[in-house]
Amino acid sequence: RVKEKWAATRVKHPPTRLALQHFDATYSGQLGKIWPSVRVALLSERKYGALLNHFSNHNVLEDLQSQGCSDFISYRDEEGRCFCESTADSDGQQPSGLQLSPNIQCFVFPRGDVTRFQPARPDLCGLLSHYLMDAASVLPCLALDVQEGHNVLDLCAAPGGKTLALLQTQSISFLCVNDASVSRTMRLRKVLNSYVPKEFLTNEKLRITSFDGTQWGDIERNTFDRVLVDVPCTTDRHSLMEDDNNIFSKNRIGERRRLPQLQAELLLAGIQAACPGGEILYSTCTLSQSQNQSVVEQAVFVARENHDIQLQVVSLRPLTQMFQNTFYFAPDLRLGEMVLPHLTSNFGPIYMCKLRRLT
Ligand code: SAM
Repeated sequence: RVKEKWAATRVKHPPTRLALQHFDATYSGQLGKIWPSVRVALLSERKYGALLNHFSNHNVLEDLQSQGCSDFISYRDEEGRCFCESTADSDGQQPSGLQLSPNIQCFVFPRGDVTRFQPARPDLCGLLSHYLMDAASVLPCLALDVQEGHNVLDLCAAPGGKTLALLQTQSISFLCVNDASVSRTMRLRKVLNSYVPKEFLTNEKLRITSFDGTQWGDIERNTFDRVLVDVPCTTDRHSLMEDDNNIFSKNRIGERRRLPQLQAELLLAGIQAACPGGEILYSTCTLSQSQNQSVVEQAVFVARENHDIQLQVVSLRPLTQMFQNTFYFAPDLRLGEMVLPHLTSNFGPIYMCKLRRLT
């Protein structure tokens, strides 16, 4: 009986299956012989990282270390490598010269270890000890290279994992966090209240808005030292695992097709919001070339042709070299860098591309 009912109400083409068909068709061409390995990782349990919350007095560090985790960011220092290289890349991209904030710490279990993290615990003030997120999502925040006194815009910020990572630097002079969705902005507020002391959430230090980010260029131009544009995308992992709220469901076909245009408009707005000399970090959690490299190319073209803004692509190769022991990076991407899911380090996908405004 249960079976009959189930059969009668079962969706014939669940969005997760449609997503898999779509990815098989596009990514097998795009990724070639590595697609089967990326595919199996995408369909397996993902790995998390624990972003340490320096605002919390709950000392979770020893706990995490005793469980065998280590901070993948500070690990680079033990290797004794230099990360402020100034040699140009062979692909002509300019070097990043980034200096990583010592305050961003993200703990991960070793390669191949799929142990789950304990839930975060509050300190005496109620601030939570750590935030669980895809460790690869910290990379765009590191790549943004926030420096002391910077004004920063996080254009698509909810639910707030990357905002939290940016706040850990404690270098930001003024942070503007925005998300078009009112309900998701409420979630973002909750996250901030659970992790950040009130004195860091004042109007002088932080502004939370729910504007359509594509219109930002009309609101505030040439303002921010750093802009994070972490756009809505096909969220490949979610689309393969969850039928709820899935962008491959039949009633969201139009929305999915419009994504590259929306992404390009958001990136263009982020470019306009940055000051000349300022830097913009575009990121997604999809493998799709048409939502990644093609979007960057289109926005750079429109910025130059229609707004007289010249941009330079900043190489993130030093960053990928630093963290190649933790993540599996896509080889030979023509623009930007990408973390590919891999069974032994099942993070990502995360695509990121950094631009610097020359004019
Ligand atoms: N940066 C977030 C984080 O790390 O937690 C994740 C951002 S998520 C990938 C993309 C976000 O873009 C969603 O929260 C969505 O509500 C928001 N969004 C969609 N369209 C937008 C628009 N036109 N302007 C601003 N935000 C938008």
